[in-house]
Amino acid sequence: MAEPTTPLPLTASRADQIFPTLTPAQIRRIAAHGRARSVRTGEVLVEQGDKSIPLFVVISGELEAVRPSCAHETLITIVRPGQFTGEVNTLSGRRALARIRARQPSEVIELARQEVLGLVQSDGELSQILMRAFILRRAELFTQGIGDATLVGSNHSADTLRIKEFLTRNGHPYTYIDVERDADVEHLFEHFHVSVADIPVVICRGETVLRNPTNQEIADCLGFNQAVDQAHARDLVIVGAGPAGLAAAVYGASEGLDVLLLETYSPGGQAGSSSRIENYLGFPSGISGNNLAARAYIQAQKFGAEMLLAKGTRLTCDRKPYVVELENGSRIPARAIVIATGADYRKLAIENLAKFEGIGIYYGATFVEAQVCKGEEVIVVGGGNSAGQAAVFLSESTKHVFVLIRSAGLADTMSRYLIRRIEQTPNITLMPLTEIAALAGGDHLERVTWRNNQTGRTEEKNIRHVFVMTGAVPNTTWLNGCLVLDSKGFIKTGPELSAEELNTANWPLTRRPYLLETSLPGIFASGDVRGGNIKRVASAVGEGSIAISFVHQLLRD
Ligand SMILES: Cc1cc2nc3c(=O)[nH]c(=O)nc-3n(C[C@H](O)[C@H](O)[C@H](O)COP(=O)(O)OP(=O)(O)OC[C@H]3O[C@@H](n4cnc5c(N)ncnc54)[C@H](O)[C@@H]3O)c2cc1C
Repeated sequence: MAEPTTPLPLTASRADQIFPTLTPAQIRRIAAHGRARSVRTGEVLVEQGDKSIPLFVVISGELEAVRPSCAHETLITIVRPGQFTGEVNTLSGRRALARIRARQPSEVIELARQEVLGLVQSDGELSQILMRAFILRRAELFTQGIGDATLVGSNHSADTLRIKEFLTRNGHPYTYIDVERDADVEHLFEHFHVSVADIPVVICRGETVLRNPTNQEIADCLGFNQAVDQAHARDLVIVGAGPAGLAAAVYGASEGLDVLLLETYSPGGQAGSSSRIENYLGFPSGISGNNLAARAYIQAQKFGAEMLLAKGTRLTCDRKPYVVELENGSRIPARAIVIATGADYRKLAIENLAKFEGIGIYYGATFVEAQVCKGEEVIVVGGGNSAGQAAVFLSESTKHVFVLIRSAGLADTMSRYLIRRIEQTPNITLMPLTEIAALAGGDHLERVTWRNNQTGRTEEKNIRHVFVMTGAVPNTTWLNGCLVLDSKGFIKTGPELSAEELNTANWPLTRRPYLLETSLPGIFASGDVRGGNIKRVASAVGEGSIAISFVHQLLRD
């Protein structure tokens, strides 16, 4: 039994939203979706690690949520009459993070996962109450490090940081034990027969010990993919869960399509790595990319979309249904596909680059960034047109722009008109044969060291803003030659495809491709991976949702 009788205190102040008490009328509406059940004192209704967890509403008596561990249990919360169990995994079908047990003889209403999905899709008021509670409960578990995973590591270990980021970006709560700081660690090492040489170590549900695991091994151990049926042909498979893929999932699933999302790493894509997106409609004070992605992901789940954390490694397009092959050898059949695999910005090979992304290192020069560095000296890295445009634009509002290029001049890489503008702008200085050697700072980038590759001379400058404009590489190598790409490897769609290209690609229909449709009927591309796309969160979201209207037309045809 749980040792303490007082649940863990909440870190958030919204207890009434995290553990709301339903009205009798609301309980009656929930009861119509489930069934009444009596439970005995001590009866376990959900065990940590169970799949497809039901939801329970307490009518009388009391339930408790506890976290089991090898030494003792932690009482997370007590669920009283009118309150309900459940959190994000109740929707996703992933494994239960806690044990749910009756503290007293109790009367409850039980809803299976599919019934919970039916309820949140059909009852607006209860959907709001349940969804808000699930999201806030997950945030609370995350903040307090209460879940089914324990990470033992060191803040000086790159793999520890990798695992922390992987779990965080996937919104999975975990307990962190630092070998350099936590007194408990010896006891843990002894219990699980591991040593400091094995770190980072991940312990799943107190049972399985993984030594320096890959992200995929962690996902498998925590059961991220176990609830997903990989065999049946979906109406729609979306490859990539950045803003474009998530938007396609929300619109597709909410409009009744059977949707599966495939994602290599975590929902959010590039946007997930942005500490604050300031220009996304409806968020005047900005929103972190991870927060936006987490909300979009749970929204997609609410409408029944499922996600596999797996990499699409090959598209098979010689017959229908099309098939996306995964790294583990699975084959996912699909009637329609939205490709939303985005692009990777070419990054600078500097060890602590990621630390300053969004707080001194930027990959776009818009009005927002220009405001942030108004009146200061800035650096633009790159010799292409995007770098030239950024330099000219930033010169209007900043004190000075240094353009760093590795080559001796711009003539081979930049349009003549931009080169002329750079030459004619007094507060732009071109720094040929120069690259960044080091970055330094605390909460923000403060100093940059650059090196002249001809002389070897280095110089440190108090510069707080660097614009990396070295181009983006589309994630299209896995497409197996199925689709027409542009000269830079981005996917061509709709009006971008010439009659000749369609001919060569054996386009089989009398109609031309729909907007966002590729050179294969039924395969669409949205977001940064698409040639000619405007690389913004809003345009990715817009394209992901527009693609769905064409998927409907196609499935009707
Ligand atoms: C640091 C940073 C800050 C930014 N800030 C802003 C901003 O403030 N405002 C703004 O409008 N834009 C911003 N952007 C640009 C914006 O994030 C992108 O335009 C947007 O994320 C593109 O969305 P997408 O869904 O098309 O692709 P992506 O975001 O690139 O997502 C693609 C997803 O596909 C997955 N994937 C790739 N290959 C495979 C595969 N084979 N199988 C399965 N999954 C795969 C990736 O893991 C990724 O999650 C920023 C970008 C960066 C890098």
